[in-house]
Amino acid sequence: MTVVVGSSETVLAASSVSAAVADLARRSFSGLADDDLLEVIRQAERARRQLEALDAVLIAEIEARNLPGRYMLRGSKQLLAGLLNLSPAESGARVRHAHALGPRTSLTGERLAPLLPVTAAARARGSITAGQVEVIIAAMTRLRDAQLPAERQAEAEAFLVEQAHRFDGGTLRGIARRLLDTLDPDGRLTGERSQQRRRFLSCVPNGDGMYRLTADLDTETAALARTVLHSLAAPRPSTGGDRDERTSGQRLHDAFRSVLKLALRAGELPASGGIPATVLITMTAEQFQAGTGLAATSYGQQLSIDRALRLADQAALAWIVHNSKGGILSYGTTRRVASDKQTLALIARDQGCAFPGCADPPEWTERHHIIPWREGGQTDLDNLCLLCDFHHDRIDTGGWQVTMRDGVPWFIPPSWIDPDQRPRRNVRP
Ligand SMILES: [Zn+2]
Repeated sequence: MTVVVGSSETVLAASSVSAAVADLARRSFSGLADDDLLEVIRQAERARRQLEALDAVLIAEIEARNLPGRYMLRGSKQLLAGLLNLSPAESGARVRHAHALGPRTSLTGERLAPLLPVTAAARARGSITAGQVEVIIAAMTRLRDAQLPAERQAEAEAFLVEQAHRFDGGTLRGIARRLLDTLDPDGRLTGERSQQRRRFLSCVPNGDGMYRLTADLDTETAALARTVLHSLAAPRPSTGGDRDERTSGQRLHDAFRSVLKLALRAGELPASGGIPATVLITMTAEQFQAGTGLAATSYGQQLSIDRALRLADQAALAWIVHNSKGGILSYGTTRRVASDKQTLALIARDQGCAFPGCADPPEWTERHHIIPWREGGQTDLDNLCLLCDFHHDRIDTGGWQVTMRDGVPWFIPPSWIDPDQRPRRNVRP
């Protein structure tokens, strides 16, 4: 029998759920027998799961009516996020579950069963959790990508739902992995297509000024990343007792920064065309003169004026100095940036990082102003040398001094490395 209810009755029914929960919460549980208390907990959990399962039906209805389109939103994920104040991750998971477990409508308006009917039924009974559903959806998506025959897919789904009634989400993940290994032992079937869909990278603020980079890399990108980053992240050979004290994580981080800087510099090489990528830095005239405070990039990140000015040694960077009201006092970078001819001359002279003992080739180096640009140092060959990211980072704080002799950079070690402070230079074979 189908009961057709008017919209207001349905709204009443929905609000009665909330009223029933509030009523339950007002009761005293202290007088309950242990068995009854455990049963209340079981019933509450079942209701919670059933309510979550209801989302799939409601989201399907939202999409059948194209409500997101009517409100000029990209999709139901954005609609839910705005309506219920959910994070993108939360609303994304609900929509993902709805697409796998909710009713579907064909292009001709025909009602279709859910993509994962066994999972949807278990969910509607309140017998499996959202975490378990997540595991089942991920495993079934990979099997679909592998183009496993439909009946084998149905068997796999039934098996996973059965296991979900016995094991928690974490254990179920292991079972699903073993199932995938059995059905697709060498991973060839699930490989590429699945990777193309799952590839992902994000870089979001941590809230403390740092950023969290997370990624799921496809095999090709991972191979590139490992090759490039690991070769750059090797510990630096010590220079007269100056040991590389960075952790492996810190070395990988610095290697990643070197790669990004190389990409920035690539835009200015003589042979390349187009407009180079530009990092726009803004700071006030007071900050610029004092060399203290924080400058802002066009992406809103804040970095110290010192760091900003060092970044500004690279060509693909524009900076704007403004007054306290936001008016622009000066802008540009061209004065501090070496010309292509100068860069080639520097490469010919230094052949890479000029720091004694460093083997970094020219493409991994940056121009260093020996007398800082802010203190009147000129952008000409007699005031420039090439330094790798690692040594550029430490040259001002490590106690070393750079001097030019006969047009060649020499490095004077701090007295704790050499009491006589005899100048050294990087002699390449
Ligand atoms: Zn170096």
